[in-house]
Amino acid sequence: MADIQSYDFSGKRALVRVDFNVPLDKETLAVTDDTRIRAAIPTIKLILEKGGSVVLMSHLGRPKQGFDPKFSLENIVSHISEKLGVDVKFAGDCVGTSAYEMSTNLKPGEVMILDNVRFYKHETTGTESFAEQLSKHGDVYVNDAFGTAHRAHSSTTVVAKFFPNDKMFGLLLAGEIESVDKVLKSAEKPRTAIVGGAKVSSKITIIERLLDTVDNLIVGGGMAYTFVKAAGGDVGNSLVEDDYLEMANNIVQSAKTKGVNLFIPTDTVIADAFSNDANRNEVMIGEIPDGWMGLDVGEESIKRCDEIIRNSRIVLWNGPMGVFEMENFQKGTVSVANSIVEATSNGAFSLIGGGDSVAAINKFNLADKVSYVSTGGGAMLEYLEGKELPGIKAILS
Ligand code: AMP
Repeated sequence: MADIQSYDFSGKRALVRVDFNVPLDKETLAVTDDTRIRAAIPTIKLILEKGGSVVLMSHLGRPKQGFDPKFSLENIVSHISEKLGVDVKFAGDCVGTSAYEMSTNLKPGEVMILDNVRFYKHETTGTESFAEQLSKHGDVYVNDAFGTAHRAHSSTTVVAKFFPNDKMFGLLLAGEIESVDKVLKSAEKPRTAIVGGAKVSSKITIIERLLDTVDNLIVGGGMAYTFVKAAGGDVGNSLVEDDYLEMANNIVQSAKTKGVNLFIPTDTVIADAFSNDANRNEVMIGEIPDGWMGLDVGEESIKRCDEIIRNSRIVLWNGPMGVFEMENFQKGTVSVANSIVEATSNGAFSLIGGGDSVAAINKFNLADKVSYVSTGGGAMLEYLEGKELPGIKAILS
């Protein structure tokens, strides 16, 4: 594996796998959130500054069968050019004569982008011959796509084998790995993880892993009600996974055995319908009346979470504390975000990882006040779970 900082790019074409799977407006096909594009800019600029040229490759959406204009990367070319300050050429395909002609003639300082690699089914099947075709676009391979690092696809993993000595992580991917490693392996204490979101089932492996590394584990969001019901509380119509009651009790036991302070909310904001306009009330979390459901954490819990988070040196946040999409039930999530900002300003390292907490921190305009906001939802979760990600392994091996 090479190092992007010390690698000599002069006169070389870098084939850079980015994650430009950005949301587009349904009507105009304009980019509606360019976080992922902006996140890849430092890597592209670094290669250009070092005298190289850049061939970008990415997927966009899930095209079913071959070319489909609404999934073409042509839709985002002008946006990338604007953010980069360099005119990006569009190849029209990711393989084929004209695409090769363009990459072969690319000059130092120039940038081009291949079309959606998922227009070919061999991308997701990780077919070696397709990966080899992609590899012909570059002299060196840079993987900067954390969002797809958990997929053994042609452009994210298999292609790396055609660059045995010239493969490396981009700045974004390296930063992501470093941040998660900091959370999982740092000697600093106390370490706190806040895990929220809808379901226990989707977070169970992470919770189990975190119990081995953190001092405090705060459980919030919809999944808290499964813990409360498992402990014999009344949760009314709140979201509950009945198949996970025993699992929830096992987690409580395991936390005790491992000396982890497990915090489950003590009070909750309830509603008589899943709607922002529903009637609201605040009750103890195990005393939710029939016909009502818990949609956010209550004041007492907010205060307790704040104390725990503020006193932490390492904070990981994954998943909202309540239905933050509805204004009347966002207070718990806003408060946690603010506590994390506070802890960060006091010197803690904070990592926000996983889809909806990232959406929340962006919604509250606090992304630049925490240490690191991850771009990779599923990949981040799998990395936290301790799984070996194929995209990362392919570069390291
Ligand atoms: P996840 O993708 O598992 O992180 O779940 C995020 C979703 O969980 C968000 O859309 C939240 O609105 C939802 N959520 C959080 N708290 C609750 C709750 N108490 N009841 C129902 N849904 C919730």
